[in-house]
Amino acid sequence: MLSMPALCWLCRLPLRMTQHGLCSPCLRQLPALPLLCPRCGLPAGNVRHPCGRCLQKPPPWQALICVNSYRPPFSLWVNQLKFSRVTALRVMLARLLLLSWQNVYRRGDLPRPDLLLSVPLHRRRRWQRGYNQTDLLAAPLAHWLGCEWGTGLHRQRQGALQHQLSARQRRSNLRGAFRLEMAVRGRHIALLDDVVTTGSTSEEISRLLLAQGAASVQIWCLCRTL
Ligand SMILES: [Zn+2]
Ligand SMILES: [Zn+2]
Repeated sequence: MLSMPALCWLCRLPLRMTQHGLCSPCLRQLPALPLLCPRCGLPAGNVRHPCGRCLQKPPPWQALICVNSYRPPFSLWVNQLKFSRVTALRVMLARLLLLSWQNVYRRGDLPRPDLLLSVPLHRRRRWQRGYNQTDLLAAPLAHWLGCEWGTGLHRQRQGALQHQLSARQRRSNLRGAFRLEMAVRGRHIALLDDVVTTGSTSEEISRLLLAQGAASVQIWCLCRTL
């Protein structure tokens, strides 16, 4: 069988490291992020210490890792991931997420996760789409990290669409929306999502995991709306 050289997802030039998905010049040209608070992932004065908002009202998770804000080309990639299962795209995005996490991990403030969970879709939505786009990221990440990818987190209620609700309504809409069918006591968990907007979904799931004895929860997402 003829093997095709892998191409850079952006410039379509052949890649030397086929597993990378983007060539080094394209990787360097991706839009830069402002300084983000390590806890909530929103713009802040420095990347080492939680911002004023987090000091007053810390989110239940320990850290939020994002690849970038919700803007091109990232917003386009997130949408492509929802509607196509192209392997090269998901491996490229998973790798960008791994690199973002490694940048923070190297500073030494974060535990290495031993369990990956993806934010679940409701059964009906999953059936309509055929798959959960976040699972597509979890598989390569779990492989590279050598950790478990858990499938015991379920969404039992779809509820109203989150973006039509106020912050308070979002929280009550999500209460009891998730169910955990696996042991997480003592585990360091990375919770994967494609886009984090208000963080209410991540908050609800983090509380559930911590209430069940998880040692720590970090949120990993492709895009954080800033
Ligand atoms: Zn390129
Ligand atoms: Zn913060």
